Amino acid sequence: MASRFHLELALTPEGWRRDVVIRIDHGVIDSVEEPDGRPAERISGVVVPGLPNLHSHAFQRAMAGLTERRGSDTDSFWTWREAMYRFVERLSPDDLEAIAAFAYMEMLEAGFTTVAEFHYLHHQPDGTPYDNVAEMSERIVAAAETAGIGLTLLPVLYRQSGFLGKPPTPAQRRFVCDRDVYARLMETRVPPGTIGIAPHSLRAVTLDDLQWAALTWRGLPAHIHVAEQMREVEECLAAHRRRPIDLLLDTVEIDASRWCLVHATHADAGELTRIVKANAVVGLCPITEANLGDGLFDASAFLAQGGQFGIGSDSLVRISAADELRTLEYGQRLMHRQRNVLGEATRSTGRRLFDAAVAGGAQAMAGWPASRISTGERADFVVLDHHHPALAAAQGDSLLDAWLFAADNAAIKTVYCGGVPVVQNGRHVAREELSQRYRKVLAGLT
Ligand code: ZN
Repeated sequence: MASRFHLELALTPEGWRRDVVIRIDHGVIDSVEEPDGRPAERISGVVVPGLPNLHSHAFQRAMAGLTERRGSDTDSFWTWREAMYRFVERLSPDDLEAIAAFAYMEMLEAGFTTVAEFHYLHHQPDGTPYDNVAEMSERIVAAAETAGIGLTLLPVLYRQSGFLGKPPTPAQRRFVCDRDVYARLMETRVPPGTIGIAPHSLRAVTLDDLQWAALTWRGLPAHIHVAEQMREVEECLAAHRRRPIDLLLDTVEIDASRWCLVHATHADAGELTRIVKANAVVGLCPITEANLGDGLFDASAFLAQGGQFGIGSDSLVRISAADELRTLEYGQRLMHRQRNVLGEATRSTGRRLFDAAVAGGAQAMAGWPASRISTGERADFVVLDHHHPALAAAQGDSLLDAWLFAADNAAIKTVYCGGVPVVQNGRHVAREELSQRYRKVLAGLT
């Protein structure tokens, strides 16, 4: 059924516009026009596109805040990963679905309207596939439907524990798939265009596997963790005499799919240029990268060459689109000892980061039309509260800056997904029920 909304102020591809009427049919904007007196529901506040969240491991939300204690003198990504493996052993399909629905609800409250789930928890605790191989994938799909968020499902291909065929460890048995099982996971029932491949990383698949997956599902979104940690770069150099991003770009035809290089933290100058030329998106997860001590991606050099990026919540230690973009910019400020490092003359820093994350995220998600407020796009938008004190003196791009740098999630009033209001007055419409279910699961796990 079609509906009409009168937006008092909206960020459109043509810039900020006052008083526009959009008509939404089956979740898609089918016209953007001037008010003509016909009835339309009025939306006051600042309407901006919803953001794609291009990298998530939903189950990790339940570990948030539980690994912030120094375990050894060299506490690192790798010790965090051991803690994550111990946690993973206990999760049931019901647990996963409840945690994912809660995490997706929080994403919506934080201004994300689509999510790419990099899903690797496939099998039973002893490593045997479930009777329905796609049981866990279907639970992710169900959780996204419950929360009302747009999902791109990325079943993960995981074959080995390290470069050159190192056998998987017992802790990885719930993730590991042979090619037949993986092909069945790629048949999980999802709306057309909303599935993609996710070879876990260059250390977790062989180059043969990587080529096989890229060729078999050519044209679909293809996401991979790459160059997140220096140890991974060193092991890759030792095994293949090439840095990881060079190796990836030498191995697959990257232009043939919607590639997203997640992290790419330790890309060197040559690799950055190759990513830009290949038209791939870098999936930055600044909060998680800071939390895990990964390092800083050289975003200023990358953007200066026209590089494209999107943002992801990854470990979900905190869920906030504003905080991801702010942490990205602050990392660059600390690195270069300057302000507004990612800004440019024609747009404010917040506006530039926001526009880039909307466009890059949409490219990496493929099947979801972008969320720009324009004809033919999905009606995913966020309404910022113009009465929030941080926004009171702001106009134009400063409204975005006030949200991203000052107010954070508290500025979000309403969120529409496919034209449906899923967040009202800052709270998801099913918050009570989904929180209760989540608390019950957590009580059973700890
Ligand atoms: Zn990840």
